[in-house]
Amino acid sequence: MGSEHGEIDVGIKVDEERCNRCGTAEEPMCVRDCPGDLMFIKDNDKAAITDNADCWDCAACVKVCPTQAITMQLPTSLVVRGVTLRGRGLRHKTTWTLRLRDGEVREYETPSTGKAPFTPNL
Ligand code: SF4
Ligand code: SF4
Repeated sequence: MGSEHGEIDVGIKVDEERCNRCGTAEEPMCVRDCPGDLMFIKDNDKAAITDNADCWDCAACVKVCPTQAITMQLPTSLVVRGVTLRGRGLRHKTTWTLRLRDGEVREYETPSTGKAPFTPNL
């Protein structure tokens, strides 16, 4: 007996085309910064999340990824299915790119937390 609405696809996703394991960084940024220790590196050297059910959507991994490989599929209760968010933490601000279902892209900025940014040596 299947659900009428099927699986709701929410959570953290890594674009393996973009993920480069943070280049020469000693520890991958998403692994370093996830407060729940949910991010890990797979055998193919790409990052992944252990279980989206344990993720509390803090977006630390989304913001810190130097290649913007991580997207957060937002819960349908917040917006609509198929919307993704990319972010980049800079010294004074975080830039956000929201992609809507129809392909429309919206850019936002929020103040920085003040945490030193990571400068990848790619
Ligand atoms: S922070 Fe980005 S580039 Fe670095 S390991 Fe994680 S997903 Fe890959
Ligand atoms: S959103 Fe937060 S809790 Fe979830 S995987 Fe990323 S850093 Fe970890």
